[in-house]
Amino acid sequence: MKISSAEFVMSNSDVDKCPKDKLPEYAFIGRSNVGKSSLINMLTSRKSLAKTSGRPGKTQLINHFIINKTWFLVDLPGYGYARVSKSSKKVFQKFITAYFSKRVQLVSAFVLVDCRHEPQKIDLEFMQWLGENQIPFSIIFTKSDKLSKNKLPAQIAAYTEEMLKYWEEMPNYFITSSSSGLGKEDVLNYIAEINSKLKKS
Ligand code: GDP
Repeated sequence: MKISSAEFVMSNSDVDKCPKDKLPEYAFIGRSNVGKSSLINMLTSRKSLAKTSGRPGKTQLINHFIINKTWFLVDLPGYGYARVSKSSKKVFQKFITAYFSKRVQLVSAFVLVDCRHEPQKIDLEFMQWLGENQIPFSIIFTKSDKLSKNKLPAQIAAYTEEMLKYWEEMPNYFITSSSSGLGKEDVLNYIAEINSKLKKS
Protein backbone atom coordinates (compact mmCIF):
# COMPACT_ATOMS: atom_id res chain seq x y z
CA MET A 1 0.00 0.00 0.00
CA LYS A 2 1.26 3.43 -0.89
CA ILE A 3 0.45 6.09 1.68
CA SER A 4 -0.73 9.14 -0.23
CA SER A 5 -2.18 10.95 2.76
CA ALA A 6 -1.97 10.68 6.53
CA GLU A 7 -3.75 13.25 8.64
CA PHE A 8 -4.44 13.72 12.31
CA VAL A 9 -8.22 13.74 12.98
CA MET A 10 -8.77 14.01 16.74
CA SER A 11 -7.68 12.97 20.21
CA ASN A 12 -10.18 11.70 22.71
CA SER A 13 -10.52 10.07 26.08
CA ASP A 14 -14.11 9.09 25.38
CA VAL A 15 -14.82 6.34 22.85
CA ASP A 16 -18.31 7.75 22.24
CA LYS A 17 -16.76 10.94 20.88
CA CYS A 18 -14.48 9.18 18.38
CA PRO A 19 -15.15 9.74 14.65
CA LYS A 20 -18.57 8.56 13.53
CA ASP A 21 -17.35 7.48 10.07
CA LYS A 22 -17.73 3.80 9.29
CA LEU A 23 -14.21 3.45 7.90
CA PRO A 24 -12.22 0.36 8.91
CA GLU A 25 -9.99 1.04 11.89
CA TYR A 26 -6.70 -0.47 13.10
CA ALA A 27 -5.47 0.18 16.63
CA PHE A 28 -1.85 0.22 17.76
CA ILE A 29 -1.13 -0.48 21.40
CA GLY A 30 1.74 -1.60 23.60
CA ARG A 31 3.83 -0.81 26.63
CA SER A 32 5.23 2.69 26.92
CA ASN A 33 8.52 3.06 25.08
CA VAL A 34 7.89 -0.03 22.92
CA GLY A 35 8.43 2.10 19.82
CA LYS A 36 4.80 2.75 18.89
CA SER A 37 5.17 6.36 17.79
CA SER A 38 8.28 5.55 15.79
CA LEU A 39 6.46 2.65 14.12
CA ILE A 40 3.45 4.80 13.19
CA ASN A 41 5.75 7.44 11.73
CA MET A 42 7.67 4.74 9.84
CA LEU A 43 4.50 3.11 8.46
CA THR A 44 3.09 6.43 7.28
CA SER A 45 6.46 7.84 6.12
CA ARG A 46 5.82 10.92 8.24
CA LYS A 47 8.48 12.30 10.55
CA SER A 48 6.23 13.22 13.43
CA LEU A 49 2.65 12.15 12.81
CA ALA A 50 2.67 10.37 16.15
CA LYS A 51 4.57 12.17 18.86
CA THR A 52 7.53 10.14 20.02
CA SER A 53 7.13 10.08 23.73
CA GLY A 54 9.39 12.36 25.68
CA ARG A 55 7.29 11.61 28.74
CA PRO A 56 6.00 8.06 28.61
CA GLY A 57 2.59 7.55 30.15
CA LYS A 58 1.51 11.11 29.49
CA THR A 59 -0.28 10.63 26.20
CA GLN A 60 -3.39 8.99 27.65
CA LEU A 61 -5.64 9.59 24.68
CA ILE A 62 -7.19 7.75 21.73
CA ASN A 63 -5.61 9.39 18.69
CA HIS A 64 -7.27 8.99 15.31
CA PHE A 65 -5.41 9.45 12.03
CA ILE A 66 -7.01 9.03 8.64
CA ILE A 67 -4.90 7.28 6.04
CA ASN A 68 -5.47 7.64 2.29
CA LYS A 69 -8.91 8.94 3.27
CA THR A 70 -10.00 5.30 3.49
CA TRP A 71 -9.02 3.89 6.90
CA PHE A 72 -8.25 5.00 10.43
CA LEU A 73 -5.00 4.34 12.18
CA VAL A 74 -5.55 4.63 15.93
CA ASP A 75 -2.72 5.38 18.29
CA LEU A 76 -3.75 4.16 21.75
CA PRO A 77 -1.94 5.12 24.95
CA GLY A 78 1.06 3.11 26.06
CA TYR A 79 0.36 0.91 29.05
CA GLY A 80 2.41 -0.45 31.90
CA TYR A 81 4.47 2.58 32.67
CA ALA A 82 5.77 2.10 36.21
CA ARG A 83 5.51 5.70 37.31
CA VAL A 84 1.78 5.95 36.58
CA SER A 85 -0.26 5.76 39.81
CA LYS A 86 -2.61 2.87 40.58
CA SER A 87 -5.71 5.03 40.26
CA SER A 88 -4.70 6.34 36.84
CA LYS A 89 -3.98 2.75 35.77
CA LYS A 90 -7.59 1.92 36.64
CA VAL A 91 -8.91 4.85 34.61
CA PHE A 92 -6.70 3.78 31.75
CA GLN A 93 -7.95 0.21 31.91
CA LYS A 94 -11.53 1.39 31.89
CA PHE A 95 -11.22 3.53 28.86
CA ILE A 96 -9.17 1.05 26.88
CA THR A 97 -11.73 -1.64 27.73
CA ALA A 98 -14.48 0.73 26.59
CA TYR A 99 -12.65 1.44 23.34
CA PHE A 100 -12.21 -2.23 22.46
CA SER A 101 -15.68 -3.24 23.58
CA LYS A 102 -17.59 -0.43 21.89
CA ARG A 103 -15.68 0.53 18.78
CA VAL A 104 -17.53 -1.37 16.05
CA GLN A 105 -15.29 0.10 13.34
CA LEU A 106 -12.28 -1.69 14.83
CA VAL A 107 -11.09 -4.38 12.43
CA SER A 108 -7.93 -5.46 14.15
CA ALA A 109 -5.47 -4.44 16.84
CA PHE A 110 -1.69 -4.53 16.62
CA VAL A 111 -0.05 -5.35 19.93
CA LEU A 112 3.50 -4.04 19.93
CA VAL A 113 6.19 -6.01 21.69
CA ASP A 114 9.87 -5.06 21.99
CA CYS A 115 11.62 -8.06 20.44
CA ARG A 116 14.52 -7.79 22.90
CA HIS A 117 12.44 -8.46 25.97
CA GLU A 118 11.22 -11.68 27.54
CA PRO A 119 7.44 -12.09 27.31
CA GLN A 120 5.92 -9.59 29.74
CA LYS A 121 2.97 -10.49 31.95
CA ILE A 122 1.10 -7.31 31.07
CA ASP A 123 1.31 -8.04 27.31
CA LEU A 124 0.36 -11.70 27.72
CA GLU A 125 -2.62 -10.76 29.88
CA PHE A 126 -3.69 -8.06 27.48
CA MET A 127 -3.60 -10.47 24.51
CA GLN A 128 -5.48 -13.01 26.59
CA TRP A 129 -8.14 -10.38 27.22
CA LEU A 130 -8.36 -9.56 23.50
CA GLY A 131 -8.76 -13.26 22.76
CA GLU A 132 -11.47 -13.72 25.36
CA ASN A 133 -13.32 -10.76 23.88
CA GLN A 134 -12.87 -12.03 20.33
CA ILE A 135 -10.97 -8.98 19.19
CA PRO A 136 -8.67 -9.90 16.31
CA PHE A 137 -5.04 -8.86 16.73
CA SER A 138 -1.56 -9.33 15.38
CA ILE A 139 1.70 -8.94 17.26
CA ILE A 140 4.24 -6.45 15.97
CA PHE A 141 7.76 -7.09 17.21
CA THR A 142 9.56 -3.75 17.30
CA LYS A 143 13.22 -2.65 17.30
CA SER A 144 14.43 -5.76 15.46
CA ASP A 145 17.55 -3.85 14.37
CA LYS A 146 18.71 -4.01 17.99
CA LEU A 147 19.17 -7.79 17.85
CA SER A 148 21.77 -9.72 15.89
CA LYS A 149 20.76 -11.95 12.97
CA ASN A 150 21.13 -15.02 15.20
CA LYS A 151 19.51 -13.64 18.30
CA LEU A 152 16.35 -12.37 16.58
CA PRO A 153 14.97 -15.78 15.44
CA ALA A 154 15.89 -17.28 18.83
CA GLN A 155 14.00 -14.52 20.60
CA ILE A 156 10.91 -14.94 18.36
CA ALA A 157 11.04 -18.71 18.92
CA ALA A 158 11.14 -18.19 22.70
CA TYR A 159 8.21 -15.80 22.50
CA THR A 160 6.26 -18.28 20.37
CA GLU A 161 6.98 -21.04 22.87
CA GLU A 162 5.58 -18.91 25.69
CA MET A 163 2.48 -17.97 23.64
CA LEU A 164 1.78 -21.61 22.87
CA LYS A 165 1.29 -22.22 26.58
CA TYR A 166 -1.91 -20.19 26.28
CA TRP A 167 -2.83 -20.28 22.59
CA GLU A 168 -3.54 -23.11 20.20
CA GLU A 169 -1.40 -21.38 17.62
CA MET A 170 0.89 -18.39 17.48
CA PRO A 171 -1.11 -15.31 16.50
CA ASN A 172 -0.20 -13.59 13.26
CA TYR A 173 2.95 -11.51 13.77
CA PHE A 174 5.26 -9.06 12.04
CA ILE A 175 8.91 -8.26 12.66
CA THR A 176 9.68 -4.57 12.27
CA SER A 177 12.30 -1.92 12.70
CA SER A 178 11.49 1.76 12.55
CA SER A 179 15.16 2.48 11.93
CA SER A 180 15.52 0.29 8.84
CA GLY A 181 11.88 0.21 7.71
CA LEU A 182 11.77 -3.58 8.02
CA GLY A 183 8.21 -4.92 8.02
CA LYS A 184 6.66 -1.75 6.64
CA GLU A 185 5.36 -3.33 3.44
CA ASP A 186 4.17 -6.45 5.28
CA VAL A 187 2.07 -4.50 7.76
CA LEU A 188 0.66 -2.10 5.16
CA ASN A 189 -0.13 -4.88 2.69
CA TYR A 190 -1.85 -6.84 5.44
CA ILE A 191 -4.09 -3.84 6.16
CA ALA A 192 -4.67 -3.23 2.44
CA GLU A 193 -5.72 -6.83 1.91
CA ILE A 194 -8.26 -6.73 4.74
CA ASN A 195 -9.58 -3.39 3.51
CA SER A 196 -10.12 -4.73 0.00
CA LYS A 197 -11.91 -7.82 1.36
CA LEU A 198 -14.14 -5.59 3.47
CA LYS A 199 -14.94 -3.45 0.44
CA LYS A 200 -16.04 -6.49 -1.56
CA SER A 201 -18.20 -7.92 1.23
P1 GDP B 1 6.53 4.84 22.31
O1 GDP B 1 6.63 5.36 23.71
O2 GDP B 1 6.04 3.44 22.28
O3 GDP B 1 5.78 5.74 21.37
O4 GDP B 1 8.04 4.73 21.78
P2 GDP B 1 8.89 5.70 20.84
O5 GDP B 1 8.50 5.55 19.42
O6 GDP B 1 8.87 7.08 21.43
O7 GDP B 1 10.32 5.02 20.99
C1 GDP B 1 10.95 4.85 22.24
C2 GDP B 1 12.48 4.85 22.04
O8 GDP B 1 12.85 3.72 21.25
C3 GDP B 1 12.97 6.08 21.27
O9 GDP B 1 14.22 6.43 21.81
C4 GDP B 1 13.12 5.57 19.84
O10 GDP B 1 14.09 6.27 19.11
C5 GDP B 1 13.53 4.14 20.06
N1 GDP B 1 13.05 3.27 18.95
C6 GDP B 1 11.78 3.12 18.55
N2 GDP B 1 11.69 2.23 17.52
C7 GDP B 1 12.96 1.83 17.26
C8 GDP B 1 13.54 0.92 16.31
O11 GDP B 1 12.87 0.28 15.48
N3 GDP B 1 14.90 0.75 16.36
C9 GDP B 1 15.68 1.42 17.27
N4 GDP B 1 16.99 1.17 17.24
N5 GDP B 1 15.18 2.27 18.16
C10 GDP B 1 13.83 2.50 18.18
